[in-house]
Amino acid sequence: MADNGMDRRDFMKSTAAGFGGFFFLSSNEIKPEETTKKPLKEQKIIYRTLGKTGIKLPAINMGVMNSSNPNLVRAALNSGMVLLDTATTYQRGTNEAMIGEVIKERPRDSYVIATKAHPPENRSTGLYTKEATEEDYQKKIDASLKNLGLDYIDIYHHHGASVRESVLYEPVMKALEKAKKAGKIRFIGISTHKNEPEVIQAAVDSKFYDVILTTYNFKQKHQVEIRETIAKAAAAGMGVIVMKAMGGVQLQERAEKPVEPVPALKWVLQDSNVHTIIAGFTTFDQMNLDLSVMENPTLTQSEKAHLQWAAFQTGLYCQGCGQCLMQCPEELPIPDLMRAYMYVYGYRNLSHSQDLLLSLNLPPRVCGDCAECPVKCSIGFNVSRKIQDVIRLRDVPAEFIA
Ligand code: SF4
Ligand code: SF4
Repeated sequence: MADNGMDRRDFMKSTAAGFGGFFFLSSNEIKPEETTKKPLKEQKIIYRTLGKTGIKLPAINMGVMNSSNPNLVRAALNSGMVLLDTATTYQRGTNEAMIGEVIKERPRDSYVIATKAHPPENRSTGLYTKEATEEDYQKKIDASLKNLGLDYIDIYHHHGASVRESVLYEPVMKALEKAKKAGKIRFIGISTHKNEPEVIQAAVDSKFYDVILTTYNFKQKHQVEIRETIAKAAAAGMGVIVMKAMGGVQLQERAEKPVEPVPALKWVLQDSNVHTIIAGFTTFDQMNLDLSVMENPTLTQSEKAHLQWAAFQTGLYCQGCGQCLMQCPEELPIPDLMRAYMYVYGYRNLSHSQDLLLSLNLPPRVCGDCAECPVKCSIGFNVSRKIQDVIRLRDVPAEFIA
């Protein structure tokens, strides 16, 4: 089966509301922004406030997941970025400590740190396992504090929730609540890159979380539902941070024409309920390009045309719709496997991909017992081909992977 994606009619059906209303806001619908010129590079910075936390952040910040380069983090902060987003597991668990080395040189009020930990989970159901205890989660928070060399963390995200039950999982909530009361964390967040509307709605209903961190981009079939729940979260006073904002960018294996990152970022910033984007750049040029979005965040006609073209490219971005899960007799966590594939071919982050693969408790033989794969992906991914490709990484010795 070719990776030919959904057809045009399906796409228009799935994003009809987006193209008809939200997808491109006219310039007079976009709220005026608070801006400043930074003396260092004369970079124009647009600030938005992260909900009731009151934290003022640039519209573009750094998601540090794909970078192990402290000089890139320094450059991000020197360029006016403030929020650094990391996790206990990024860069094989070294990302927090690398950031800790950078921030120890700086005043505590000059940066905002968000980190996160994911409780042990059954990847097929999204429910947590018995190992996901309050004590285990407390240990993760304490380990983050130690790695970062901080007395407190600004935002700690309950990471990667994908179903309502997980959002409301008491042992994790209790650990976070106690850490907040003890002054170890200022604000409690929740992150999701799958089944986002359900997760965000549950977070709003809980009245427990201060911040959400969600996938949101121009390629998502369910972008309208995400937009609506983001609006509810913002109305409830929650801070809204977006990741994977460039869902179609750098995410094509053999693209003749690459998808441009700037329009993709601008598309997200059209939504005034989004308070900031964490961009996962890995080079200084990419960083400067991402920052340039704030010079003029309004989409031009050619950028709109580009996005309309790009929205039809299948790329490497799995929608996380879960439609494949019931079709696989082996109950493989296919969305996670597609994410591992994207980390290799999109982000070139082999170690993160391998870590994800090893966390999935996959059988020794993957896809080996099926004469033919019956899975029909909603966007046309040839899932068995991608799985068989990426699964090879599982057996590569870690020391061979930079
Ligand atoms: S692999 Fe396809 S069907 Fe499965 S979650 Fe991703 S987009 Fe949906
Ligand atoms: S080939 Fe792989 S993905 Fe397809 S049904 Fe078999 S085990 Fe599942």
